[in-house]
Amino acid sequence: MSSLHQNRRQFLSKTGKAGIALATMPLISKLVPEQYFAVSEFKQQPLPYSYATLEPYIDAMTMEIHYGKHAASYAKNLAEACEAEKVDINNSSLTAVLKSISTYSTKMRNNAGGHYNHEFFWQLMQPSPSTAPTGALAEAIDKSFGSFANFQKAFGEAAKNRFGSGWAWLLVTKEGRLVVSSTPNQDNPFMDVAEIQGTPLLGLDVWEHAYYLKYQNKRPDYINAWWNIVNWEMVQKRYATAISK
Ligand code: MN
Repeated sequence: MSSLHQNRRQFLSKTGKAGIALATMPLISKLVPEQYFAVSEFKQQPLPYSYATLEPYIDAMTMEIHYGKHAASYAKNLAEACEAEKVDINNSSLTAVLKSISTYSTKMRNNAGGHYNHEFFWQLMQPSPSTAPTGALAEAIDKSFGSFANFQKAFGEAAKNRFGSGWAWLLVTKEGRLVVSSTPNQDNPFMDVAEIQGTPLLGLDVWEHAYYLKYQNKRPDYINAWWNIVNWEMVQKRYATAISK
């Protein structure tokens, strides 16, 4: 039995009947993001693969601590912020909260962003070998950056040059342009406080907790290794959804 199935079985045994619907769902990586988040976008979802799946590019211990401690704590603190600031998690959209984040507390900003960014990040990765962008996304990347290699260079620079903790992004603006950016802390391109706003298609966590156990101070090595595990099929689905709106 694969570790993915083990994870799902453990999850089902914990959730009982409520988990039965999930048992019949296709793998999370095959879902479009809206369907995935519809399960309960304010709560941490089961990791769609085992901790060791992304080895050797991301080691199992980093994944275990990242998912089980860091990301879990963003979800927990988000629940507290929602309670305190009267966000009804059963009838609200996390994206809508992000888009009006300037009207909420710093705790909401850090944890709504932290939760969204991590749920998003897990979905964007898959076991090596990585797929490659194709179709409309590949064309848009070529058009915006000249070539896929140029795009990777721009994205890598954004990730490398983000001072301190934050994220690098590929996003699509509301005019439909593809842009590379980076944000500090747990900010995100959906946020009304972001310098460059749009729908995030791809994001790379460059907090030290994401890479330090394996790569120590060598952030560029982590960035280069990460290209081996990008799930481009998911990025394409996000792009198709974003430009259809
Ligand atoms: Mn992180």
